[in-house]
Amino acid sequence: MTDRTKDWKPATALVHGGTLRSGFGETSEAIFLTQGFVYESGEAAEARFKGDEPGFIYSRYANPTVDMFEKRMCLLEGAEDARATASGMAAVSAALLCGIRAGDHVVAARALFGSCRWVVEKLMPQYGVETTLVDGTRMEEWEQAVRPNTKLFFLESPTNPTLEVVDVAAVSRLANSVGARVVVDNVFATPLFQKPLELGAHIVVYSATKHIDGQGRCLGGVILSDKAWIDENLHDYYRHTGPALSPFNAWTLLKGLETLPLRVRQQTQSAAAIADHLADHPKIGRVIYPGRKDHPQADIVARQMSGGSTLICMELKGGKEAAFAFQNALEIVRISNNLGDAKSLITHPATTTHKNLAEEARIELGINPGTLRLSVGLEDVGDLIDDLDRALDRSA
Ligand SMILES: *Cc1c(COP(=O)(O)O)cnc(C)c1O
Repeated sequence: MTDRTKDWKPATALVHGGTLRSGFGETSEAIFLTQGFVYESGEAAEARFKGDEPGFIYSRYANPTVDMFEKRMCLLEGAEDARATASGMAAVSAALLCGIRAGDHVVAARALFGSCRWVVEKLMPQYGVETTLVDGTRMEEWEQAVRPNTKLFFLESPTNPTLEVVDVAAVSRLANSVGARVVVDNVFATPLFQKPLELGAHIVVYSATKHIDGQGRCLGGVILSDKAWIDENLHDYYRHTGPALSPFNAWTLLKGLETLPLRVRQQTQSAAAIADHLADHPKIGRVIYPGRKDHPQADIVARQMSGGSTLICMELKGGKEAAFAFQNALEIVRISNNLGDAKSLITHPATTTHKNLAEEARIELGINPGTLRLSVGLEDVGDLIDDLDRALDRSA
């Protein structure tokens, strides 16, 4: 039979992709909550360890439920291979560290998720890796940062929390011309709206905690790339450092993938309507939303993304006082630093997710006292707009 799974559209792949049925023929994916696997004989164990026979050995290496999640993600991303991890940060740190050596140089866009920035700025230099942070939206800064020992570029697009957009194709062209690899943290774009591998990047990472679970239940992550890179760099690192995803969480994420397109499309449609509504409000100075004509990199958004975002960045004219009064007056939208959830969530980056940055660095990133990040959920969009309007009325 011809393998047609690679031709499946996302909605089909996300329901059926990677399914591994046991002898019972269950419809829903089974949770193989097991640490190890038994062998028929000593010879069978030997053959499996040698790699002469396929099969599972130990769940730190691979597990059938985790394998289904990895295969389904590969189909969605158009990647040859993947490794699932216990959190998004396990994915980011493994992707960044597994192929890098003391003496290598890494260039990263400075607008990074807080923990990602810590890995680049603080951890890597401890192991003799040189790092340079650049304004990812300025190609000349990437070019000027390149050194003879530059091995890796790292970026996130759209960025957290100001939703800046980096030209992934241009950065990838530069990386290829100097023999460096590009790692893209694609969480904010989601695997539906941006395909970094097609744009020329080499490695894609996700926090599956966000839209992939999408219902606020468990942590998870995944690294996707070509098979040769994974075999050479990640395979041994993953086995021996132990960031493996739990089978139960893999199952939860498999269920999340089934509804990913429905959820992300609905949340994006609501977010676009809310962004337009908020942009006209007298108490709001600025709304940044990928897909609006006034987005600072609107031309790149149009080129590299097939949809907008479930997130909105907004600036209250009244600063921190107004931002807090607004958050506190919300009744449906909840105050939380998570995102991509079915529940709408709002956070004040300057005092939460980005509180560890020096004030200068925050201002450089456009994170002001009045900046708020809104993750739009699955509630009725009219109810959300009423909630936001009421709370704005009550803010300073
Ligand atoms: C949340 C997030 C991470 C980290 O993921 P965890 O699952 O929380 O470890 C990394 N990058 C981005 C862009 C994120 O939003």
